[in-house]
Amino acid sequence: MGDCLTTNWGYEGKRGPEHWHELSQRFACGLDFKWQSPIALNKEIVTSEKLSKELVFHYKEEVFLEELFNNTFHFVPPEKESYLMYDEKKYWLTDIHFHLPSEHTLEEKNYPIEFHLVHMNEAKHNLVVGILFSIDSFDQLIAQKEGKIELDQAFPEFCFNPALFLPENRGFYYYIGSLTTPPTIGPIEWIVFDEVQTLSQTFVNYLKKEIVENNRRPLQPIKDRKVWYQNNHNSTQ
Ligand SMILES: [Zn+2]
Repeated sequence: MGDCLTTNWGYEGKRGPEHWHELSQRFACGLDFKWQSPIALNKEIVTSEKLSKELVFHYKEEVFLEELFNNTFHFVPPEKESYLMYDEKKYWLTDIHFHLPSEHTLEEKNYPIEFHLVHMNEAKHNLVVGILFSIDSFDQLIAQKEGKIELDQAFPEFCFNPALFLPENRGFYYYIGSLTTPPTIGPIEWIVFDEVQTLSQTFVNYLKKEIVENNRRPLQPIKDRKVWYQNNHNSTQ
């Protein structure tokens, strides 16, 4: 049993996802929450119950620091100026990180990369927004968007508006799950957009140079939970 903060874990072998809960006492807690993430998302599993909660992004241009932890690359905003409103509750953006390939699947399909935009409200509850990406190096609009983030610089500090990663069509899946990294605790509110976005190979290569490749937790059983789908016409920005 290792100390919680220094426990080494990974995605393969004895420290891989099947063994995370055996690596430390803190990681063992993850087993207590039965609704784990990620899951396979598709329209067939969606409940017919209507979800009409408003999702509004209030993202701003702000500073992000590049950090490496939990086996991936993170953009961390020290000032935490961006937030979203969901169901009239305010969630601050605290971290953006990446999984290669995607952890969630959409209609049985995996994508090369998934962004997790991690938010936290006043009660310290997490809401994570998942956005899946495919790669297209020749898309001019993408190049223009990515140009707003100056990647190769001496000091790993970036200034950008995270809204540039948001899809235009904001239809999303909503479900209750867990963190996808140890200690895989829950409940975590998940919003995963249905519209797949695009990134260039250059941008992905920049992330790749720091990421353990294949930092994807395998799909978890849905069990007795509900998954909602909402066509979100109310979101702005
Ligand atoms: Zn993640």
